Amino acid sequence: MAKKIIITIDGWSSCGKSTLAKQLAKKLGYAYIDSGAMYRAITLYFLRNHIDWTDEKEVAEALDHIHLHFEHNENSKQSEIFLNEENVEYVIRDLVIAEKVSEVASIAAVRTCAVAQQQKMGKKKGIVMDGRDIGTTVFPNAELKIFMTADIATRVERRFKEMYEKNPNITVEEVKDNLEMRDYIDSHREVSPLRKADDAILLDNTHISMEEQLDFALGLVKQLKEKAGV
Ligand code: C5P
Repeated sequence: MAKKIIITIDGWSSCGKSTLAKQLAKKLGYAYIDSGAMYRAITLYFLRNHIDWTDEKEVAEALDHIHLHFEHNENSKQSEIFLNEENVEYVIRDLVIAEKVSEVASIAAVRTCAVAQQQKMGKKKGIVMDGRDIGTTVFPNAELKIFMTADIATRVERRFKEMYEKNPNITVEEVKDNLEMRDYIDSHREVSPLRKADDAILLDNTHISMEEQLDFALGLVKQLKEKAGV
């Protein structure tokens, strides 16, 4: 059996990380983990339970009551996140969550908790994980690291289309403000800020199709396996 590797995909908000990660995982028969969903689910818990996340003690207690896991859904054919046994895959995509998630994700205790779970999921390799710090902090020794980017107008257009389907009241400005705010907080926080790992391969998909980006990534996997003789 071919040796399994870890593939990390980091990058700016809404540049298609999860699309590429899902396609790659499917092609390779690997597990796909959406690390952003974990931060979103924690944010949902904090909001629902009125947790004051500026209070370290409250945060620590709340984290003790949060159990996250992913399950494969046969109908949607994707892995979905559960918060304390409730499927929250869809509610966490709301703008209400997107508005607070980067603030919550910048808390050190939250990151320590999420990163430990993510590292556990990668123990057996054969995993594609996307996020902001996967190649730098979660799996610094991953065999393949991709860092994705795309110009802001393209990213806003993509995210707007996606969100408009669920919420026709949403405006392009709201989506743009949210992406810019999250990118700013994510790249300026103290703990594991978003940045390209030195050994990550840059993929700008502003002008390429989903098929082209998948071919590009599969080419990288092939090269790597040939080099390692696996
Ligand atoms: O990937 P997604 O856009 O769903 O992530 C939501 C938010 O979660 C990001 O804007 C970021 O604040 C946080 N995040 C993070 N580290 C990760 C993944 C996501 O801080 N590895």
